[in-house]
Amino acid sequence: MTEYSTALSSNVRSRFFINGEWVLSHSGARHVLISPATEEPFMSVPLADSVDVERAIAAARRAFDSGPWPKLSGAERSGYLKRLTEEIRQRLPLLAQLWTDQVGAPITFANGLLPTGITRFEFFASLAETFEFEDARPTRRGHARVRREPVGVAALIAPWNATFPIVSHKIAAALAAGCTVVVKSPPESPLDALIIAECAAAVGLPPGVLNVITAGRDEGAQLVQSRDVDKISFTGSVATGQWIARAAVDRLARVTLELGGKSAAILLDDVDLPSALAALTPFTMPFSGQICFAQTRILAPRARHDEVVSAYAEIISKLKLGDPRETDTRIGPVLNAVQRDRVRGYIEQGISEGAQLVLGGTGNGGFGKGYFVEPTVFAHVTPDTTIAQQEIFGPVVSILPYDDIDDAVRIANDTPYGLSGSVYSSDVERAYALACRIQAGHIGINGVELAANVPFGGYKLSGVGREGGREGLEAYLETKAVFMPTAAG
Ligand code: NAD
Repeated sequence: MTEYSTALSSNVRSRFFINGEWVLSHSGARHVLISPATEEPFMSVPLADSVDVERAIAAARRAFDSGPWPKLSGAERSGYLKRLTEEIRQRLPLLAQLWTDQVGAPITFANGLLPTGITRFEFFASLAETFEFEDARPTRRGHARVRREPVGVAALIAPWNATFPIVSHKIAAALAAGCTVVVKSPPESPLDALIIAECAAAVGLPPGVLNVITAGRDEGAQLVQSRDVDKISFTGSVATGQWIARAAVDRLARVTLELGGKSAAILLDDVDLPSALAALTPFTMPFSGQICFAQTRILAPRARHDEVVSAYAEIISKLKLGDPRETDTRIGPVLNAVQRDRVRGYIEQGISEGAQLVLGGTGNGGFGKGYFVEPTVFAHVTPDTTIAQQEIFGPVVSILPYDDIDDAVRIANDTPYGLSGSVYSSDVERAYALACRIQAGHIGINGVELAANVPFGGYKLSGVGREGGREGLEAYLETKAVFMPTAAG
């Protein structure tokens, strides 16, 4: 049994957080967590049934309709969010350990990426303080007060892969806007949002403002279909996102969807290869490629393709595949056997469709236990093949040659996705001109970055709407114009 650096409280392990209280699940059903590194069970957690979902929705509804939260000023909500941020900050080492234990993220990667969750809380806490929730505009009869009001009860649904950073984006923005929320954690990674709930309890967030349950698909669907839910913010697969959009359409519930990706990193012909690869490589198969914005297609000028392949494969071949709890591990296991077999299936398909396997393959790195997939690099990949088109969500990178800039743009845009991308060149304005032609919501020049004050989200099948930045707050607001018969004063 893992020893945790900070206490993992019995509330977080064994209860849900509904209406400001730690409650037992209605059915008593539990979900067993299996370590991706050892295949051993290490904990079990309660799973919500339909009664728990109804309770959580009812608590959020009451807190929105008759509680203080939506009526507080932005500055007052900001005060709560700032205190919440400090409570969460103290638990970062615990959250990092849990990211490793629950889903197998290498601990060094987890420690590096987790602070993005904190910066998201900090950003929305400060935005709530300064955001203009109301402004006045002159009209023929007098003036209009244009109000930005919280949309209502928000259902926040997260995937297992990066639960803490993802729910942080959603919770911080929704609470800053004045919404009340029901967070549905995935069964594979249930504890992160409950730790945020523990922090909410510590700072005295009013009852019902934040409710957290762990549940599977059916209860997620129940949440999405509830007429008491006004807004759904979902991160996960395209198929589920499409289902949610359909379920929301009858009542036109507001929807934000953050879905999958097949992002292209484009190396221009003038690129300084060592520095470009130093910046790019950590983002090509981070967390075994189980990150939505992983740069899984590398586009290389045909004349430099072989040079790119050997330089990139050499870097990847030196990354340690192994126990995610060890600080020098760079590639850990994938989530589970289903995920491992899916990834292996894509590797087999890449081989059968004629791509050149340069590194890795369908082996497990020699480990007796654990869901390991060797980091795999394909070269001479053509754009129409399965491995160039579909999100693999595993440590598999395809290198594709291109002929000229127009060809690079065509290949980069030739997938159903449009989440992220990056461009590498000695001339940053040349790279920027190319970035403007890429159909994706998040593009880095000579590197890949996330920033809480900048919107994140996808074109095409990668999603609808944005999280982060003021756009992320506006996603939880409705605009109301009140026409006054007097001049603004
Ligand atoms: P998933 O769609 O299977 O599940 C995501 C969440 O939705 C889980 O909590 C699940 O329980 C819930 N769910 C499933 N069916 C539901 C339904 N009918 N109604 C309501 N909730 C339902 O996705 P996953 O396998 O957990 O996550 C991997 C996917 O997430 C990948 O495609 C990845 O690219 C994507 N992702 C996107 C982003 C982004 O910001 N764009 C970030 C991380 C992951």
